[in-house]
Amino acid sequence: MFKERVFSGVQPTGNLHLGNYLGAIVNFVALQKRYECIYCVVDMHAITVPLNVWGGPEELRRNTREVTAAFIAAGIDPKKHIVFNQSQVAEHAELTWVFNCVARLGWLNRMTQFKEKAGKDRENASIGLYDYPVLMAADILVYRATHVPVGEDQKQHLELTRDIAQKFNNDFGDSIRARGFGDAFFPLTEPLIQGPATRVMSLRDGTKKMSKSDASDQSRINLTDDADAIALKIRRAKTDPEPLPTEEAGLEKRAEADNLVGIYAALAEKPKADVLKEFGGGQFSAFKTALADLSVAKLSPIAAEMKRLTQDPAYIDSVLAEGAARAQVIAAETMKAVKDIVGFVRR
Ligand code: ATP
Ligand code: MG
Repeated sequence: MFKERVFSGVQPTGNLHLGNYLGAIVNFVALQKRYECIYCVVDMHAITVPLNVWGGPEELRRNTREVTAAFIAAGIDPKKHIVFNQSQVAEHAELTWVFNCVARLGWLNRMTQFKEKAGKDRENASIGLYDYPVLMAADILVYRATHVPVGEDQKQHLELTRDIAQKFNNDFGDSIRARGFGDAFFPLTEPLIQGPATRVMSLRDGTKKMSKSDASDQSRINLTDDADAIALKIRRAKTDPEPLPTEEAGLEKRAEADNLVGIYAALAEKPKADVLKEFGGGQFSAFKTALADLSVAKLSPIAAEMKRLTQDPAYIDSVLAEGAARAQVIAAETMKAVKDIVGFVRR
């Protein structure tokens, strides 16, 4: 039996948005009550995209502190749990190498995130972007985490993590048993794809997920957007000419309407059916005004706290340093065992 432990990460690329909040961070906060949690700002993942996309050194530092501030502002307690940035714990990279030799090319060739992010110019994508899911498996398994809260888009990467764990456990089965770790050294991690909204879509295109890396700022509501920006983006959000349905079944094949109702429901902590009882039959304009007001009411306290926290980078850095030191104790222990299991001679 593995000790129950939660791990998850958010990349410090661009602006945190409503999808990150409703799909991941709200869940991170809730899980603190039941589990020991490790929340990581995955800066090594951030640099897998082209430099002009992740923004360069100053931008990376700024975004790393901003994601940390968002964690704390949303209610993550860095004293009770662990908050740190990935690059401060070298064991993530070290375990990635071992996993690179466990994972199969065929497995990685199926990863849809790589295909989407690399786009047409695949030859020019970084090797890091291709290897991203293996680093993610190492992030999780270096803590032997049993549960990983993520949005729907990360489901495939979690399946790969389980495949890597399983193959490692099988390939090294005798060595694992001989070292006294029982039949399995790594747990088969469970994804926790739950919470208010597991897949928030772009405001400009109801078939694409809301993303930090989307070139259009109009496609997403950023946690730091002010009330006017939020109202404008929601007013301009793509919709269809029909009025809102009164029943949930009426949202089928209406991706944009479904998305906006889903966001309202998630923020109001109500089922979609209740939202439609209130707004069904009415025009989008009235609903959009209510949605903008609700978004501002829910997000502005977080934005204000993020702003306050980011004004003190020394405090943020001290949280990350302390978190990294505590994370490293666990990661180093795993790495020692992995080296023994694989057969690397060590001090
Ligand atoms: P990028 O476009 O750079 O990949 P991102 O918006 O996907 O950025 P990540 O840092 O990759 O953000 O993901 C952080 C967490 O947010 C993950 O758990 C991911 O599943 C979740 N997430 C991202 N986008 C959405 C979304 N649109 N709806 C719900 N959850 C999401
Ligand atoms: Mg992503």
